[in-house]
Amino acid sequence: MNELQTKTEYCLNCRNKPCQQGCPLGNDIPTFIALAKEQKYKEAYEVLSKTTVMPFICGKICPKSKQCQGKCVRGIKGEPVSIGDIESEIGDMAIKNRWYLNVEKPQQNGRKIAIIGSGPAGITASIVLAKAGFEVTIYEKREKIGGLLRYGIPDFRLDKKYVDILEEYIRKLGINIKTNQLIRNIPELLKEYDDVILSSGANISSKMGIPGEELPHVFGANELLEYGKHPNYENKTIVVIGGGNVAIDAARVAKRRGAKKVIIAYRRAKAQMPAEQKEVEDAIGDGVDFLFQVNVKQIEKDKVHLVKTELVKREGETRLVPVEIPESIFTLDIDYVVMAIGSKLDKDGLNIELNEKGYIKVNEGYETSIPHIYACGDCIGETPTVAWASRSGRDVANKMKII
Ligand SMILES: Cc1cc2nc3c(=O)[nH]c(=O)nc-3n(C[C@H](O)[C@H](O)[C@H](O)COP(=O)(O)OP(=O)(O)OC[C@H]3O[C@@H](n4cnc5c(N)ncnc54)[C@H](O)[C@@H]3O)c2cc1C
Ligand code: SF4
Repeated sequence: MNELQTKTEYCLNCRNKPCQQGCPLGNDIPTFIALAKEQKYKEAYEVLSKTTVMPFICGKICPKSKQCQGKCVRGIKGEPVSIGDIESEIGDMAIKNRWYLNVEKPQQNGRKIAIIGSGPAGITASIVLAKAGFEVTIYEKREKIGGLLRYGIPDFRLDKKYVDILEEYIRKLGINIKTNQLIRNIPELLKEYDDVILSSGANISSKMGIPGEELPHVFGANELLEYGKHPNYENKTIVVIGGGNVAIDAARVAKRRGAKKVIIAYRRAKAQMPAEQKEVEDAIGDGVDFLFQVNVKQIEKDKVHLVKTELVKREGETRLVPVEIPESIFTLDIDYVVMAIGSKLDKDGLNIELNEKGYIKVNEGYETSIPHIYACGDCIGETPTVAWASRSGRDVANKMKII
């Protein structure tokens, strides 16, 4: 039995499909694994393709332990089924055998849609709409399409050949791609298109509101990773503030570029980190250090002041709350600080209503405050993962199909 068969055999094909409920895209996991068990890999890929356009990407980078694998009944007493690995292998078979290109260009329905932004949300919406006969044009400000899949997630975690494959798929469907096109006046597009989907992401690093964060040696992780504007890390000591994927990626990139010491400072404990435990272990393998249960209080030219926290249960809060321990302040000598505590929308020139959190306000049909302009993905404050962005792109496209 090969490794893939061993992994599929371990699945119990549960009738109530708890793993499917944990998947943001609602992939029919038990069914595709059952088909893979019988070595019907093409059929397994077809089942996956009903709900996702990028199994070869999600299988590799989704935070699986927080999504499908976190709900797997096998995980109650032992290891969960390796759902991500199985999905990824089936996705890779689809690439090798070019199953993903088995698409007919559908009959056109006469409706023209513009999509602004080509990350997972925009790409997914474009594919679902094109398959339904819409004439779709993607506008992307960067040189190539892919959003954070291409310009954010480091190459050592996601080979960019997978984004090229998505592009090949998109072109096969006849979707127009206009790159190097920064769209500011969104309503202007309605002169040419019936509807517009805004999927422009939320890629400005958030700040903490602490003294010293405006100093020149304090960087935003999004800006560093997305635009590659890295300082010289060689022999430097860096504190990265945060506990998610972005913090881990920023720390690993700094270490790989020659930093002497990189410390991730996170306010809760290791078990509560939003990042996957595997990513944490990989970062440790790269030589990254961690300081758990600490809050950064102040940044100076060559030091940061931190305070220890204890975690307390609070009514109405789903997560343990970090509370600062009095008189536990300590100081670290540093060269740079990197903020990776979340990201915000670029509001510049966006004349559209925002919600209370500062993202684009949409109703349950993904409609914004401007008629015929829809929005999806990180720019509406969706849970910031590839699968959730893709799910909202798929949902907005499906809503538009029935209007
Ligand atoms: C470093 C890093 C690592 C991550 N790792 C993971 C991970 O391992 N797993 C995971 O699930 N998620 C991960 N994420 C989160 C995930 O990448 C995002 O949630 C997802 O990409 C959001 O998709 P989106 O389509 O909404 O936006 P984006 O991917 O941000 O795409 C938005 C696109 O819109 C374009 N754009 C913006 N404004 C305009 C304009 N005015 N005109 C034209 N084009 C415009 C941008 O150039 C970009 O291409 C990571 C994020 C980062 C930053
Ligand atoms: S919950 Fe786990 S064991 Fe059950 S069907 Fe899903 S992957 Fe298989």
